[in-house]
Amino acid sequence: MNTPLKVAVVGAGPAGLYAVERLAKQPGVEIDLIERLVTPFGLVRYGVAADHQSTKGVARTLARPLDKGQAAFHGGVTLGETVSLAELRELYDAVVLATGAGVDRRLDVPGEHLPGVVGSGRFVGWLNAHPDHLERPIPSRPVRQVVVVGAGNVAIDVARILAKTPEELVASDLDPEIAAELASWPLERVTFLIRRGPEEMRFTPPELEELGKLARAQPLVSANDLPAAQGEEPKTLTLLRRWTGAAARPVSIAFRFHAVPAAFEGDGALEAVRLADGTRLPADLAVTCIGYGCAPLAGLPLVEGRLARAEGALQPGLYVVGWAGRGPSGTIPTNRTESHRVAEALLAEVEPAGKPGRAGLLALIKARGATPVDWAGWQAIEAAEKAAAVAPAPRRKLRVGFPLPLVAGEGGERQ
Ligand code: NAP
Repeated sequence: MNTPLKVAVVGAGPAGLYAVERLAKQPGVEIDLIERLVTPFGLVRYGVAADHQSTKGVARTLARPLDKGQAAFHGGVTLGETVSLAELRELYDAVVLATGAGVDRRLDVPGEHLPGVVGSGRFVGWLNAHPDHLERPIPSRPVRQVVVVGAGNVAIDVARILAKTPEELVASDLDPEIAAELASWPLERVTFLIRRGPEEMRFTPPELEELGKLARAQPLVSANDLPAAQGEEPKTLTLLRRWTGAAARPVSIAFRFHAVPAAFEGDGALEAVRLADGTRLPADLAVTCIGYGCAPLAGLPLVEGRLARAEGALQPGLYVVGWAGRGPSGTIPTNRTESHRVAEALLAEVEPAGKPGRAGLLALIKARGATPVDWAGWQAIEAAEKAAAVAPAPRRKLRVGFPLPLVAGEGGERQ
């Protein structure tokens, strides 16, 4: 029998899982999927908005190679803690890093540290019950005025979730306690602070359009802020025109263009955002949705907040896919194309060298005293989350850190 090619993929988000999908199509490849969390799917589970369940449905496709046993899942295994990159490279013919970009970019303006000012990674992580963000990232107080900095789809997700009524969120997987808190807020206004003009927003048309279909909220745009209509224009600009002169509703969604935050102000907690032109906007909550960078990883240098990437491989036998290499851009299908391309390059470039692979990894993990969650363990978590949900919510995510209680898997019963 031919020696199998042994590949470790680190990170079980879409980029890593699409790499697994492509590698699994090639006979004779042993694939191990290593993940810091005990749950797979990365941003599909913890980043995609809780009310966009159809987008989250991609998890069923992503899970297929694991469901079929074409790859093994090792959840709760941290690169740089449980196992080092040097060790993985000794154990495997090739390593694919798909570790994402999990650190909020900062505006670097005075007052950004004030309670009530939060980056979208932390805020969305909290809304989505991410184990790193179980602690509330904002003060417990009524929120009337929200400022959202940025004009990308994450900014829209944040605005929409806050602006929706409880009825509009009932089929989401928002944590019920958080949903109850949001419902208790006397919300009046969400304001986007957009540093460019209305022609240059990064919102995509379907996401922007959704804001015009909410039960209690109304996007409001001042006609004076828009350029005169002349021929072809971005669809997003046409959408803004629809909302000029719209009748007010209980919650307004406002757009401020050429608006650059200069400082967050408040006595002990956020009270207002001061713009570069001197305007002072009252605010109880400010969410900065301005992108993400990577945390330093396993001694690899960071270039502009991401892992340096040469064409194809980072180093011989070491590959990077997804936001860790590309930066925080693109949709889930963008990762499919890229991860397949990189996996194909790997398959063409790397020869099997009789490395220990999975057997060596499991021995190392055991020696370190770690108890990983395997695919059966994840399926047990998933079943528990589905059982705990109140219909029509699809799941109630376990709000647990580590170690996980009561997860049965190959590693045995956990305490
Ligand atoms: P994004 O689309 O890159 O938007 C980031 C926004 O932050 C931009 O408006 C940017 O302005 C602004 N910004 C950056 N630095 C700033 C600063 N210092 N001061 C003020 N504004 C600043 O990123 P994202 O919203 O985080 O989304 C990440 C990726 O995920 C995107 O590709 C997005 O489309 C995707 N995504 C998709 C969906 C969906 O399909 N439903 C949902 C969520 C996310 P400039 O344009 O001026 O740089």
